[in-house]
Amino acid sequence: MKSYQVDENGFYGKFGGAYIPEILYKTVEDLKKAYLPIIESEEFQKEYRALLRDYVGRPSPLYLAKRMSEKYGCQLYLKREDLNHTGAHKINNAIGQILIAKKMGKTRIVAETGAGQHGVATATVCALMNMPCRVYMGATDVERQHVNVERMKMLGAEVFPVQSGNKTLKDATNEAIRDWCCHPSDTFYIIGSTVGPHPYPDMVARLQSIISEEIKWQLKEKIGRDYPDYLMACVGGGSNAAGTIYHYIDDERVKIILGEAGGLGIDTDKTAASMQIGTLGILHGSRIKLMQTDDGQIVEPYSISAGLDYPGTGPIHCNLYETGRAQVLPANDDEALRAAFELTRLEGIIPALESAHALALLPKIKDQFKPTDIVVLTVSGRGDKDLGTYLANRGTLPDPPSEGGSK
Ligand SMILES: *Cc1c(COP(=O)(O)O)cnc(C)c1O
Repeated sequence: MKSYQVDENGFYGKFGGAYIPEILYKTVEDLKKAYLPIIESEEFQKEYRALLRDYVGRPSPLYLAKRMSEKYGCQLYLKREDLNHTGAHKINNAIGQILIAKKMGKTRIVAETGAGQHGVATATVCALMNMPCRVYMGATDVERQHVNVERMKMLGAEVFPVQSGNKTLKDATNEAIRDWCCHPSDTFYIIGSTVGPHPYPDMVARLQSIISEEIKWQLKEKIGRDYPDYLMACVGGGSNAAGTIYHYIDDERVKIILGEAGGLGIDTDKTAASMQIGTLGILHGSRIKLMQTDDGQIVEPYSISAGLDYPGTGPIHCNLYETGRAQVLPANDDEALRAAFELTRLEGIIPALESAHALALLPKIKDQFKPTDIVVLTVSGRGDKDLGTYLANRGTLPDPPSEGGSK
């Protein structure tokens, strides 16, 4: 059987690795030696799973969306990561990494954040574990995700607006790495996605793999078999997708379909669809497909969704795309907005804009579906943080049919 898991050097095919400055070598090497024994230890598992259950509210439900199923001609199940404490899948990873940080004797936490969801998750677990927390966030994102900034501060984190580049996720990540370089021995860098140097992509994927672990027994309970025909998720750095597919990655019965941010379209210069248009390069310690110029300067990404506004994608997904194991399709801003309104009106669930990029693929691929096909789509987060964007774009969207009544 072919394995799409990481090899001993931290590579997924030609992607991944650990391209780090000398000063971080020992820190990353220590983590590489420590993370698997810690994650596999009984003590860690007991603590991690108890927190996932009692603090996060897991297992997250697997919900058969009947009206959406009817519309798209399949059996569509939604994996409800939006119902987690703090509103997205990010908390699964943040809890795992802070437990690892504590076991390694670290006393100081740094993190980067885009939409603010990972910053909030990290600030939350730092409050829980009484650890000082510094969150780096692009100044553009500080403005467009103001509520999350206030949440982080209320939780006790220090938030540092980053003024370089186009002041979004990539720039925040640069700054977090810079901080880490200055304090390598006492600081643990909690990365929010399956990006960064090995072992981060593998560590984050394992900490998110609870998603597919639950899908397995939940499907078995509901339909009598433990695998779907299709798995779907959105991809920014790739963590919710990695968790969704983890236990199915080598199971070729399961088709994998991922949505990345098309922005205004992959043929425009306003896009974040790095797998479609990227080329091989190194960013934040990992060899990935990257939006860059011919001489290797990063091309600033664009997406309506702050959580997908990153010029690359983690090495796991680059490899799945290159090998053809996963079908990766872009969903543009307008398609994602339409999908978010549709889910809201058909199922009463307001999804995060990021998650809407997975939902937006349904109209594009529905001709592949048979009515009996089981499709599991991960709703990575809830849409509260995106209400401003939704309201601002309401007018451009067709209103669903209404029987009248108050609006
Ligand atoms: C951060 C975020 C994403 C994108 O990150 P991945 O690592 O690709 O999962 C997607 N959805 C939500 C709700 C997020 O907060």
